[in-house]
Amino acid sequence: MQIVEKAAAKINLSLDTPFSHPDGSQEWEMVMAAVDLADYVTITTIPKRTKIEVRTDTGFLPNDRRNLAFQAAHILQTRFHVMEGVKIEIEKHIPVAAGLGGGSSDAAAVLRGLNRLWGLDLTLAQLAEIGLAIDADVPFCVYSQTAYVTGKGERIKPLPKMPAAWVVIAKPTISVSTPVILRQIDYKRIGHVNTQALLAGAQQQDWQQVYPYMKNVLEPITSHHYPEILDIKERMLQSGACAAQMSGTGPTVFGICEKQSRAQRVLNSIKGFCKEVYIVRTLG
Ligand code: ATP
Repeated sequence: MQIVEKAAAKINLSLDTPFSHPDGSQEWEMVMAAVDLADYVTITTIPKRTKIEVRTDTGFLPNDRRNLAFQAAHILQTRFHVMEGVKIEIEKHIPVAAGLGGGSSDAAAVLRGLNRLWGLDLTLAQLAEIGLAIDADVPFCVYSQTAYVTGKGERIKPLPKMPAAWVVIAKPTISVSTPVILRQIDYKRIGHVNTQALLAGAQQQDWQQVYPYMKNVLEPITSHHYPEILDIKERMLQSGACAAQMSGTGPTVFGICEKQSRAQRVLNSIKGFCKEVYIVRTLG
């Protein structure tokens, strides 16, 4: 049996961390949205074998248990004693290590797909809880819709569908190490996000009430090392984006526009400056 699952990228409308846990991991408070920049994950079950095979079309991503999609299949297979193997073929479109949750979204797609193929009958909440063991962004990616995310990433509260907007995504050619950025968080100096105000705007499904409260507390840390992040953000705002900021730990910057023509203008303004640029829509 075979299934194709779409694995959408995420952007952080907000990202804040109120405190760190005794084990050193962060408590998160984030509002995240899914965008129509997606990998396609083809999952084929292989009867009478238990082997998990992963293939990607990139040539540089690992195909073994270091691949988050492999880990997703392995967890479900062992936890539910499934005596069947699986072949996972990933067509990558989401830039890797970009702050767009690409690996997490592939893993979430495998959780959703195998839940159906293996008839496990798990709810999204159960899949999200399982996914947390893989990566903090997997629970959100299981839902893949605008949501308020707290805890270590496992508490997902879906929000009403925002009106579809255009999002310009720019991925500078720099590599950011997530653990290196997270180690530099100084809890005494964080300028926290007014998440309640942002949530009120999201509840009203009104972008105008969301834009003023968008903020990513990691942006000053990553952009201190890579000032081009702020250059891209500034260009996006100057060329007419309603709001622009870094996603996740970066380095990707996104700008939101309500009209396609405006998004095209924003894209044109950064094309010569940043090679990897996309225009996509928000997903409901
Ligand atoms: P994070 O903030 O969790 O690091 P990200 O969105 O910035 O996530 P990803 O594209 O998920 O970045 O890649 C992070 C790391 O995960 C990379 O080093 C990559 O080698 C590894 N990885 C494992 N499986 C995958 C996958 N299926 N797709 C992309 N990256 C993967």
